[in-house]
Amino acid sequence: MLDLKQQYRRFGISENVYDYGREILNSLQERFMQIDQTAEYNQLKVIHAMQTANVSEACLLGTTGYGYNDLGRDTLEKVYAAVFQTEDALVRPQITCGTHALALALMSNLRPGDELLSPVGKPYDTLEEVIGIRPSKGSLQEYGISYRQVDLLADGSFDYEGIKAALHDRTRLVTIQRSKGYQTRPTLSVDQIGELISFVKQIKPDVICMVDNCYGEFVETKEPSQVGADMVVGSLIKNPGGGLAPIGGYIAGRKDCVENAAYRLTSPGLGKEVGASLGVLPSLYQGLFLAPTVTASALKGAIFAANIYEKIGFPVVPDACQSRHDIIQAVTFGSPQGVIAFCEGIQAAASVDSFVTPEPWDMPGYDSKVIMAAGAFVSGSSIELSADGPIAPPYAVYFQGGLTFPHAKLGILKTLQNLIDKGVVTPDFKRQENLS
Ligand SMILES: *Cc1c(COP(=O)(O)O)cnc(C)c1O
Repeated sequence: MLDLKQQYRRFGISENVYDYGREILNSLQERFMQIDQTAEYNQLKVIHAMQTANVSEACLLGTTGYGYNDLGRDTLEKVYAAVFQTEDALVRPQITCGTHALALALMSNLRPGDELLSPVGKPYDTLEEVIGIRPSKGSLQEYGISYRQVDLLADGSFDYEGIKAALHDRTRLVTIQRSKGYQTRPTLSVDQIGELISFVKQIKPDVICMVDNCYGEFVETKEPSQVGADMVVGSLIKNPGGGLAPIGGYIAGRKDCVENAAYRLTSPGLGKEVGASLGVLPSLYQGLFLAPTVTASALKGAIFAANIYEKIGFPVVPDACQSRHDIIQAVTFGSPQGVIAFCEGIQAAASVDSFVTPEPWDMPGYDSKVIMAAGAFVSGSSIELSADGPIAPPYAVYFQGGLTFPHAKLGILKTLQNLIDKGVVTPDFKRQENLS
């Protein structure tokens, strides 16, 4: 029988790299225990929500056509509302991705003449075209909805003075992105988001506060909807889909906000009443059930990566010891070679498409070339082991996912091995200087 090191050897991982990883892992046991505790708490939260909503075997069947009286769909929306502690939720396979869910929440709750405010700096790349920061057909801007932004201060904190000055009569909706996205700013904790919302509502109580919750679900024991957010929005091919959901997005929040979104998604008058679930409900339910532990695996992977690459000398966000509020790990390699070698390593560790070589390409919605490594069971799913990075300074990769921790570990060891093989890291685990 092969021993464990020999198993790794079959993936091209040397004994040195394996030992290096083991040493780092030994130092992380206490943090991993805390993550397991959060997962346990959230697991019970999800099961309790399913029990309270009376999830039954009949909920796992699907509907076709109009989808009237789809018990499984309507019950799943109750489960999401209970998990996020909101009045209502819209959870649909017809919401194609996270960007769509966010666009839907914005477009359905804003009217011509309204203003949208981001008090946390530039939003995620794909939202630039939704808002009209980069001109695009059908953007909010085309509908006469203006946009204002207040950047975070240099230390990552909120610019309360600036936010106060930016809130005015026409400000209808405030959008707060929890995760850092393709930036190197810190991710916001749920408590920080709560403080920001209280501040905003003190000045303008009727403003709608929406949180882009992508990558943040189940990382903490509470969600932004429990600290005042009127809507939380995300993608089912990230955390809450648990790796099983093949498509979908959710909007959980205040009844009137969710109703607006439903009327926009289907049609005024029809709202939540239509939208056949087809055959996807079992994976949406089972994915949500697995989401707390899957998120925990991804978190452990992110922490493992941070500790490995910080020690070698690359800047990492969050750093090796910082508390975590999303599953994304940024590592700044400072060179295209580093970004590419890292992504190649992740790809080579995949169960699906491990033999392909990822290459930078012009991805829709992004303004520089992006390299993406993903050998996923669900195409593009970034709760599965994946990494991406724009080929632009500062040449950072964003690593996330791993449905199980052993897979995340394999992926990270494989990136390290590839960085050594490509000369970006020296065989004695130091950063190779002077790469162009
Ligand atoms: C992934 C992500 C989105 C967009 O989701 P897609 O499913 O890729 O369209 C929006 N905001 C943040 C912070 C994200 O991480």
